[in-house]
Amino acid sequence: MRANCWMGRNTVEVREVPDPQIMNDRDAVVRITSTSICGSDLHLYDGYIPTMKKGDVLGHEFMGEVVEVGREVRNLRIGDRVVVPFPIACGHCVACERGFFSVCENSNPNAGLAEMVMGHSPAGIYGYSHMLGGFAGGQAEYARVPFADIGPIKIEDDLRDEQVLFLSDVFPTGYMGAEMCDIQRGDIIAVWGAGPVGQFAMASARMLGAERVIAIDRYPQRLRIAQENTGAEVINYEQVDVLEVLRDMTAGRGPDACIDAVGSESHHPSSAINAYDRGKQAVRLETDRPHALREAVLSCRNAGIVSVIGAYGGFIDKFPMGSLMNRSLTLRSGQCHVQRYLRPLLDRIRRGEIDPSFVITHRMRLDEAPKAYEIFKNKQQDCNKVVLSV
Ligand code: NAD
Ligand code: ZN
Ligand code: ZN
Repeated sequence: MRANCWMGRNTVEVREVPDPQIMNDRDAVVRITSTSICGSDLHLYDGYIPTMKKGDVLGHEFMGEVVEVGREVRNLRIGDRVVVPFPIACGHCVACERGFFSVCENSNPNAGLAEMVMGHSPAGIYGYSHMLGGFAGGQAEYARVPFADIGPIKIEDDLRDEQVLFLSDVFPTGYMGAEMCDIQRGDIIAVWGAGPVGQFAMASARMLGAERVIAIDRYPQRLRIAQENTGAEVINYEQVDVLEVLRDMTAGRGPDACIDAVGSESHHPSSAINAYDRGKQAVRLETDRPHALREAVLSCRNAGIVSVIGAYGGFIDKFPMGSLMNRSLTLRSGQCHVQRYLRPLLDRIRRGEIDPSFVITHRMRLDEAPKAYEIFKNKQQDCNKVVLSV
């Protein structure tokens, strides 16, 4: 089959690789119809995540048609249309039983390696390095889906791929980011990063009752998508001092909750560095990464919530712990427990509360993956989200 493979830093290549096979009674094989590129794939593309090998198949956002099932998979039949959640989870361990699927204890055969590299041992993830299980990804014609008896969700034929594909990751991730904010009526929620994850966090904050949502980014096109589809007020962090503007927008108090949908790749503009240099928060901060997270902590109102869905690995230094502790902030975070959200979010799509396809700016073919990665990484052609059809 054809698959998009990691070939080294900033290089992917669509190549011929062996077809996946059922290896376990709980596996299924899915013929992929649509797959997308995630901000998380850029961490691999950038060469930021260790334990990738040349030829590894990328992709963890995909959907398609079941073409083969193992003996224990009784919930799916050949021909069923499914969306596959990105964390691989057994459904029966202590973590899964409590709904913490992205920290499943049984899905990552290389958990020891992950623990050594990252200080923890999360679940397996498709197409996301050997420390996260070495599973082949879904930017391909076919994928092997382990634990297919509990992961994939069936999709009726009247919904288009584009409406449901993002249930695999970015929609539930944004939703979890908003859910972790315990939104109350009248709340103001600020979101750093107006990429697809941030946009879904904004849309979800709205669905969960936020009165105002504020989007922070530097790409006008992304801010416009956020504004038009979620009613967000926008801040271009390259043009203003974010902390000052947020204070002005919230009667001096700060947003009730702050969502970091940027992660460790945070870019830091000179205006914000100047703000720190002026010592506004009484704590003088260094100006290295991650900028967005610090800004989220420092601007959040007293006793508010900081919700981190942007991805981090390893150690993050210069974290404003004093601000968090002394101002009674709550910090929440996690890789998304996607399986938890599949049914309720599919229901919301069905009821017309949201059409997730609003994030898509580019529709390309799997064979065009190298070009698609380049465009998505460099935000060329106002790229927001790429869907590859297979
Ligand atoms: P993306 O790269 O498309 O978007 C990130 C956005 O952040 C960009 O628009 C960028 O301009 C903006 N940004 C950078 N620095 C900023 C700053 N200092 N302030 C404000 N905005 C800033 O990525 P995406 O697909 O939207 O994903 C966002 C993050 O979420 C990534 O870190 C990704 O790995 C992570 N993620 C986490 C999960 C999870 O389960 N928690 C799932 C999917 C993605
Ligand atoms: Zn993703
Ligand atoms: Zn489990």
